[in-house]
Amino acid sequence: MTGVTMLRQTDRSRLRRKRERGTHDSSAVSAILDQALVCHLGFVVDGRPVVIPTTFVRIEDSVYVHGAPANAALHAAEESGACLTATLLDGLVLARSAFHHSMNYRSVVLFGLPTRVEDPDEKREALLALVERMSPGRSGECRLPTDEELRATLVLRLPIDEGSAKIREGGPIDDEADLALPHWAGVIPLSLVRGVPVPD
Ligand SMILES: Cc1cc2nc3c(=O)[nH]c(=O)nc-3n(C[C@H](O)[C@H](O)[C@H](O)COP(=O)(O)OP(=O)(O)OC[C@H]3O[C@@H](n4cnc5c(N)ncnc54)[C@H](O)[C@@H]3O)c2cc1C
Repeated sequence: MTGVTMLRQTDRSRLRRKRERGTHDSSAVSAILDQALVCHLGFVVDGRPVVIPTTFVRIEDSVYVHGAPANAALHAAEESGACLTATLLDGLVLARSAFHHSMNYRSVVLFGLPTRVEDPDEKREALLALVERMSPGRSGECRLPTDEELRATLVLRLPIDEGSAKIREGGPIDDEADLALPHWAGVIPLSLVRGVPVPD
């Protein structure tokens, strides 16, 4: 990231529960955002919460999401403000007790007011960065967006300013009294892997 080293801790972004697992450090936030391919965008429509999964990309101190100009979610997010989350699931944590089962993860929560990207150069950069995430070098291996396609795409920028990251790692945290139980306990690692490409 460019300038910001710590994200703002506000009433809503301050980590309270298990806060030793959390951080407001921007480099930790960026590392998670750069690995996650999908985020969830939460906003308010007619006073009710809505959360939509979507792709995104981070460029420096901003996160970009995009959609059709008629995309209702993006319009609502522009109006109500948004909460964007990204989650990497690293493992299933099986404890000796049902109570202490858990998951290993790295997650980010961001808050802010997304704004519409009007500058065609910034728009193009964001859209090509999205393509690059799919496969590095890909923006040089496909037809670039035309001006018309750019106009037909709504791009929103959310500043990485107020938010947090949280990380759980390691094995189960069982109660002392349960450690002698005969049940298997440990971690089942999970990861998202690219398969063998299938040509069109
Ligand atoms: C894959 C996964 C599974 C989970 N499963 C459970 C579950 O089953 N039950 C459960 O109670 N919790 C679960 N959590 C943790 C959950 O995300 C919350 O951290 C936890 O529930 C505490 O919520 P809270 O509102 O009391 O936290 P608070 O500490 O009060 O939240 C205050 C602020 O801290 C930040 N924050 C909170 N959680 C996160 C986070 N995960 N990542 C980044 N910033 C965060 C946000 O800015 C939030 O507004 C899970 C997390 C992940 C990623």
